[in-house]
Amino acid sequence: MEAERLDGMLISFDANVRYLTGFSGEGALLVGGSEAAVVTDSRYIETAQEQAQGARAVEYSGKIEETVGQQMRLLGGQRWGFEADRVYYSEYQRLAELPVELAPVLGAVEEIRAVKDSDEQAAVRHACQIAVQGLEELFLRLRPGMTEEEAAVWLDARMRELGAEGPAFDFIVASGSRGSLPHGYASQRPLGIGELVTFDVGCRFLGYNSDITRTVALGEPQAGLQRAYEVVRQAQEAGVRAVRSGATCQSVDAAARGVIERAGYGAHFGHGTGHGVGLEIHERPLLGARAEGVLSAGMIVTVEPGIYLPGTGGIRIEDTVLVTEDGCEVLTPSPKALRSFGGEGSANWRGGGLL
Ligand code: ZN
Ligand code: ZN
Repeated sequence: MEAERLDGMLISFDANVRYLTGFSGEGALLVGGSEAAVVTDSRYIETAQEQAQGARAVEYSGKIEETVGQQMRLLGGQRWGFEADRVYYSEYQRLAELPVELAPVLGAVEEIRAVKDSDEQAAVRHACQIAVQGLEELFLRLRPGMTEEEAAVWLDARMRELGAEGPAFDFIVASGSRGSLPHGYASQRPLGIGELVTFDVGCRFLGYNSDITRTVALGEPQAGLQRAYEVVRQAQEAGVRAVRSGATCQSVDAAARGVIERAGYGAHFGHGTGHGVGLEIHERPLLGARAEGVLSAGMIVTVEPGIYLPGTGGIRIEDTVLVTEDGCEVLTPSPKALRSFGGEGSANWRGGGLL
């Protein structure tokens, strides 16, 4: 606020309100020079009174901008910052009618959120442990004939049993030729023998997310896919080795991408190598070819290169890692050598059998 010469800051993005106050409901936070207030409605006022630390809870019943305007006057000051990339144009129009000077601010809270304190690290670590355990249990249940969606539904329920608050996002389960869709949803497609299946999953714990991807085989996949898998594994491990405090975000992307390019698959890896994980599943910093910024100890990022071959299949391997002074701690430890499940000799999923 000092750097932007602000008298106050209006925080309306829910993850930022939660980060600054602990309040998990819907509402807006007004931070003045020495005081703060959370403005919310009757659905959340009790939650705000209970959860909000360092901020008064104020209930509005009419138009929220009227109460926001009153609080701005109460907290003092003329020049108020707002989150320029988090406010709808229609909301901005209503704010613009308030008798204060509005100043657009970009990513101020998001930048602070990028480095996690020990409580946040513990929450992500636990969300990662749940995700890894659920995924490993799912692998042992994979059978030909099980649909992608059946796998996703089972895993969602299992993660909740293990203590997750819910899924971090709609799980991606992409089998066979659908594997070339980097963000393919879990469809009705049955898993088939000889296919690769990519699972990109995660869960929430105390509001914090986990994110892990593994590609596994059913039976024995064709040699070309096995070769591509090995390239992704080496790229992912090179990316993880490049993570440490002081490394540029670009250098981590370059380490992973370089392995894929040298193997001749550069055209088949279109997305960035990773992203921050915290209260949001995708947050700062981004690890990409044009990314800016430098990693610091306490950041939590993913490393997730992939190769996608249209019509044939795809591979992605992703870990969530905690940046440390001299490297990183992998929060999603799970084998990366190509593993095969549900192959010959396994009972058919629909026939029950081993289940
Ligand atoms: Zn993921
Ligand atoms: Zn991810």
